[in-house]
Amino acid sequence: MELDIEKLVSKIIKEGSLNEKKNDLTETEKTTADSSRLGVGESGVFKTVAEAVEAAKIAQNKYFHTSLKMRKKIIQAIRDQLLPEVKDIARRGYEETNMGNLKDKIEKNRLAITNTPGLEDLKISSQVITGDSGMTLYELCPYGVIGAITPSTNPTETIINNAIGMLAAGNSIYFSPHPGAKNSSIWLIKKLNEIVSKVSGIENLIVMIEKPSIQAAQEMMTNSDINLLVVTGGPGVVGQAMRSGKKVLGAGAGNPPVLVDETADIEKAAADIVNGASFDNNLPCIAEKNVVVVNKVAADLLKNMGKNGSFVVSNSQDIEKIKKLTVTEKYTPNKKYVGKSAEKILTDAGVSYTGHPRLVLIEADKNSPFAQIEMLMPVVPFIRVEDFDVALQTCLKLEHGLHHTAIMHSQNVSRLNEAAKEMQTSIFVKNGPSYAGIGFGGEGPTTYTIATPTGEGTTSARNFARVRRCVLTNGFSIR
Ligand code: NAD
Repeated sequence: MELDIEKLVSKIIKEGSLNEKKNDLTETEKTTADSSRLGVGESGVFKTVAEAVEAAKIAQNKYFHTSLKMRKKIIQAIRDQLLPEVKDIARRGYEETNMGNLKDKIEKNRLAITNTPGLEDLKISSQVITGDSGMTLYELCPYGVIGAITPSTNPTETIINNAIGMLAAGNSIYFSPHPGAKNSSIWLIKKLNEIVSKVSGIENLIVMIEKPSIQAAQEMMTNSDINLLVVTGGPGVVGQAMRSGKKVLGAGAGNPPVLVDETADIEKAAADIVNGASFDNNLPCIAEKNVVVVNKVAADLLKNMGKNGSFVVSNSQDIEKIKKLTVTEKYTPNKKYVGKSAEKILTDAGVSYTGHPRLVLIEADKNSPFAQIEMLMPVVPFIRVEDFDVALQTCLKLEHGLHHTAIMHSQNVSRLNEAAKEMQTSIFVKNGPSYAGIGFGGEGPTTYTIATPTGEGTTSARNFARVRRCVLTNGFSIR
């Protein structure tokens, strides 16, 4: 009898401890159990939109209940582990999309890794108010699962930039990359998940599907578990997202003009404009896409831009050849030449040139297709105007009210001020290349998602967070 009781007690203890063990699964074991229930995910890459979103939702719930210290650790690990691989990351995006140039893509990825703000960005908008009635706290909290749509023009750099900012704000992310950047995106999503799960035990904090498509992106936009859409792309996709009924941060197209007046340091202006307009073969949405210069200094600017690697085309036959090659009948850029080099465009157009130009300057007026269309290639119109007032009006017309980016070279402070105010762009760069506006040679953090139609401008972690007000009555006012 004694033995039976002993056996019974031992059985109870064993089962008790077994149950205890079940409830005491490590974060990694729990996540693995969730993933195997979903059955198809491999380091964040799923077959269907629904599976990927569900996995991201589970992951976000775990992430929400970890600490801020863990968020910091994850972001630091992403920076530390991606930086040594920056060349490979850039190469993958470059080779797959066959756009831009490798050297600049490396810099763009390096900036995303090192200069995207993390949790420190959230402090700025947190606020405490105290008074006779108590204390009110405003905090920036996660949305949940963010659906992030990314462009082919900055493929890996946008994923890195968005991932750091969105994770800093406590979200998980469903990425919908351009189908033309599928493989480099899958590779990067897997890599990011490996880094995150090693640090935190959480799997699938960043997800995508095996075969991204426009249809799948639209399916994601209407999935009820997606809490915020962050869309980086052209007007089509931004409009589509706005029709979804969800909150959208829309980072759309631009057509940035650069204004040069007679007071500018022309040598510097010339170098800055060529550097900015040829950067990654003019793929960045912020890159100089029109040069508008007052007559008095036009010849000087042109000469100096030539010294910095521009090739000027003023002969109408040659201009026509380039137009035929790069502008379609529908008045859109010929995709075949988006992000291609100046030399390839000149060669294919049959325009003879000397040296190794990195920018083609077309002598044109503001009505030229090269001026009106966002070309996304190193073919930029050179537009001469009478004076500053006409230059500003021309820039306003060419920017099409997109509120994206404008650049100006001048030493006249009142004019700089006037143009900055009138252009109403999300980014206005004075006396520097366009990319100074995203933290490359200019102060400030880096972003590849400049939310122009929806007005957030240069986005970072604080834009990927929900503002919540937490009120305590009759307490914590110690003044
Ligand atoms: P794109 O508009 O063709 O594609 C962007 C993304 O949207 C891709 O992932 C694509 O698959 C998806 N997409 C396109 N149409 C869609 C639709 N109807 N429904 C759902 N998804 C859709 O642009 P792109 O050629 O990849 O990138 C270049 C464009 O993006 C340029 O216009 C550029 O100015 C803009 N851009 C803007 C910013 C910014 O921060 N404002 C940054 C980079 C690029």
